[in-house]
Amino acid sequence: MSRSILIRGGRVIDPSQEIDERTDVLIVGDQIAALGREAAGAADEVIDASGWLVTPGLIDMHVHLREPGYEDKETIETGTAAAAAGGFTAVACMPNTDPPLHSDAEIEFVLRTAELTAQTRVYPIGALTKNRAGQQLAEIGLMVKAGAVAFSDDGEGIADTGVCLRAMSYVSQFDRLFIQHCEDKSLTRGGCMNAGLTATRLGLPALPAIAEVIMAQRDITLARQAGVRYHVAHVSAAGTVDLVRRARQEGLPVSAEVCPQHLLLTEEMCARYDANCKMNPPLRSQSDLQACLEGVRDGTIGCLVTDHAPQVNSEKELGFQDAPFGIIGLETALPLFIRALIESEVLDWPRLIAAMSTCPAQLLGVPGGMLKVGGPADVTLIDPEAEWTIDAERMRSKSRNTPFDGWPVRGRAAMTIVGGELRYRVQGN
Ligand SMILES: [Zn+2]
Repeated sequence: MSRSILIRGGRVIDPSQEIDERTDVLIVGDQIAALGREAAGAADEVIDASGWLVTPGLIDMHVHLREPGYEDKETIETGTAAAAAGGFTAVACMPNTDPPLHSDAEIEFVLRTAELTAQTRVYPIGALTKNRAGQQLAEIGLMVKAGAVAFSDDGEGIADTGVCLRAMSYVSQFDRLFIQHCEDKSLTRGGCMNAGLTATRLGLPALPAIAEVIMAQRDITLARQAGVRYHVAHVSAAGTVDLVRRARQEGLPVSAEVCPQHLLLTEEMCARYDANCKMNPPLRSQSDLQACLEGVRDGTIGCLVTDHAPQVNSEKELGFQDAPFGIIGLETALPLFIRALIESEVLDWPRLIAAMSTCPAQLLGVPGGMLKVGGPADVTLIDPEAEWTIDAERMRSKSRNTPFDGWPVRGRAAMTIVGGELRYRVQGN
C-alpha cells in the first residue's frame, strides 16, 4: 500500500483550478489523491495546516546550480536543499557550468546527479550555442531528447543576429522556450553597476538599461518571424517591461520574469561598495523598479524567479569592481516577494502562487503548478505570518552572497513535499 498524507484545514490555493478555500488535501503515494470532502478520512500521517497556505509546489525557473565545474560555489545537492528550504519543489538550472550544458551528455549528467542527490526536481536548461559562445548552434535536438526543458545562453545574450534567428527557429521546431539574457555587451563591457547618478558619483563603469532594452527589442522582432516562444530573463529596465507589454498585446508568445532584488532594491544600494549588491542585470533606478512592479501587477511579467547565483566569499571580497556578479536567492525569495508584492497589494495570494508555480510550469511544459487529482504530489505549505530574520550563516546554500542578510521578514515555507515525500520542514514550529 502507498503511504498517505492528509493535509488538513489549510487555505488551499490552486490558481490552475481557481481554488482558494479552507479545505483538505490527500496525498497517496506520489500523487494528489483527493481534495475537499473526498480527502477526509484516515491517513498514515495527518498534517495540521490551519493558519497555513497549501499551494502547488513552487517552481524557480532561473537557478544556477553550478555543477558541473563550480562545486565550490554550489552543487546540485546543496542548491536543491536550499530550494526545498525556500519552498521550491522544482528548479530549472542554467547551462553556464563547466563544461556548459551544451550537449546531451551534460544534460544527462545533471539529471543523473539530481536523481542521486537532489532534494527537488531539477529541469536542465540547455545552451543555445556551443560553449555559450554565440557562434555555432549547440546540439539542441539531442538535448531535447535527453530532457532539456528550455534553452538559453544565460550570462550571455546572443549578439549575432543571424545566429540568434537560427537558434530561435530551431528551438521553435521543438516547441521549447527560448530564454534570453538580454544584454548588448558592446554597451556594457567592463560595467559593474547601473548607469546613472550613483555610478557617476562613484566613478564606476556602468551597464546601462538600454543594453537590455535594445536586445529585447531586436529579439521580439526576430521571435515574431521565428514563431518561437520567447522569454526575457530577469527583467530590470522600464523599457523592457514596455516592450514585453506591447508584444503580449499584439498576441505574440512573449513572456518575462523578474527577481526580488529588482522589486525591492535600487542602485543607491551600491554606494557603499558592497559586492553583495553587484549583480547582472544590476540594481536600477526607482522608476525602473516601479515599472517592474507595474509589469507584475498587470500581468506583463508573469513569472517570479530568483536568478540564484552563488559565489564564494573570497571572490565577493575582491572589491566592487572586481567581484563577480550575482546573489543567492532560493531561501529568501518567498518572504521577499511577499514583502514586495503581497504587503504592497500588487498581487493577491492566488496571483503570487500562479507566478511562482503555475506560470513557470506551463512555460517549461513540466508537471506540477497545480493540485489536480492524479497530478504529482508537489506541495508547498506556507506559514504567511511567520516573522523571522534572514541569516546568511544559517542557509543551506554553500554560498552566502546576499544583500538581504539581517532583514526582518514575514512569511516562509513551513513544509515542502516533493512527489509525496517531505523534503523540508521548518525548525521551531
Ligand atoms: Zn542572466
